[in-house]
Amino acid sequence: MKIPELLAPAGNMEKGLTAIEYGADALYLAGQQFGMRAQAGNFSLAEIREILRVAHKRGVKVYVTVNTFPRNHEIDELPPYLEELSALGVDGIILADPGVLHLARRYAPNVPLHLSTQANTVNYQAVQFWVEAGISRFVLARELAKEEIAQMRQATTAELEMFVHGAMCMAYSGRCLLSTFLTGRDANRGACAQSCRWKYAVVEEKRPGEYFPIDEDERGTHIFNSKDLCLIDYIPDLAQIGVDSLKIEGRMKSSYYVATVVRAYRAALDLYAQSPDTYTLPESVREELNKVSHRPYWAGFFVPTGAGIHYPTSAYHQTHDVVGVVQRYDTERGEAVVLIKNRLQVGDTVEIMEPRGPVSTLTITEMVRDDLGSAVDEVHANFTARIPMPATKPYAMLRVERT
Ligand code: SF4
Repeated sequence: MKIPELLAPAGNMEKGLTAIEYGADALYLAGQQFGMRAQAGNFSLAEIREILRVAHKRGVKVYVTVNTFPRNHEIDELPPYLEELSALGVDGIILADPGVLHLARRYAPNVPLHLSTQANTVNYQAVQFWVEAGISRFVLARELAKEEIAQMRQATTAELEMFVHGAMCMAYSGRCLLSTFLTGRDANRGACAQSCRWKYAVVEEKRPGEYFPIDEDERGTHIFNSKDLCLIDYIPDLAQIGVDSLKIEGRMKSSYYVATVVRAYRAALDLYAQSPDTYTLPESVREELNKVSHRPYWAGFFVPTGAGIHYPTSAYHQTHDVVGVVQRYDTERGEAVVLIKNRLQVGDTVEIMEPRGPVSTLTITEMVRDDLGSAVDEVHANFTARIPMPATKPYAMLRVERT
């Protein structure tokens, strides 16, 4: 049985490097043209070249999204862009539009073509159609149940990729204009404002300004507020079905989010690979996923586990905040050089999350601000501090529990 690839979002260079350190087998990212996630700090061609260099050295693959639905006036830009991606040696191009597919076959003929979830592949006849058109991997629609995915597996040898973690959409993956109408931000260009999750009221036309709440309770009703997908409990099912790649959503999310979620799924996959017959997911691994910003989790449409809407509030939950990222470790002095992300004070107790290692606890007794060269009681975001601690590695993260 094959252990699925773990595919992580790379919203920018830092997030991509973080995902590699924390155990991703592959990254997906957008270039500055034609990629979803318009605001995620997309990669220039030079940056794609650089992340490819680092990733390939570590045996990690890099897929580039070209999965918007380009308009006529954008078509002329596609051939040179596709040629450049091909020349750079990307491991896959993720696309959704048949016009882009048509051009990719011509201008990037040797690059594997992945069909984006935006294309909403929900049956094996559609798989057959797209395979004949040149697609070698499918990012399956999030709306599929476990049995349907197993049927897809029986029907094709093409690679199957599916989202296992992150935000859901109330429409078939971004096929929605709510955000475009209300904010001008186009969900099909990766700019969704998640307008479906806003708090709505009813207004009678002759009473402007009088908002009649459609409350379930005093906090309001968030009628389209989907819970977040989490399939970490289903690793054995996913491997046994033969899903090739497990995808984590979130190119807009922080490096800390990417690190924590990749680390948890990496741990689960590695444990399962070691002993599939006796595998159970440790509670400590599942618990890690509560330490990042998320809405309540559910298993999406993969298995029926009850309602997917979270009515009380659209606010995010998280039990911990990141306060620093280790840049390097000075072995001689026994100090980590830490880029501070949120205010950190002497006396704070932090958890130190190692990329592929344990989580340990430390109470900060001393900090030296790097630019001042002197001891301080607190350090604010974006400054660098030297903090005595046991040996650690670059990209380790310091976090504090929320009070
Ligand atoms: S507004 Fe909601 S339903 Fe529409 S694309 Fe965005 S997340 Fe999906």
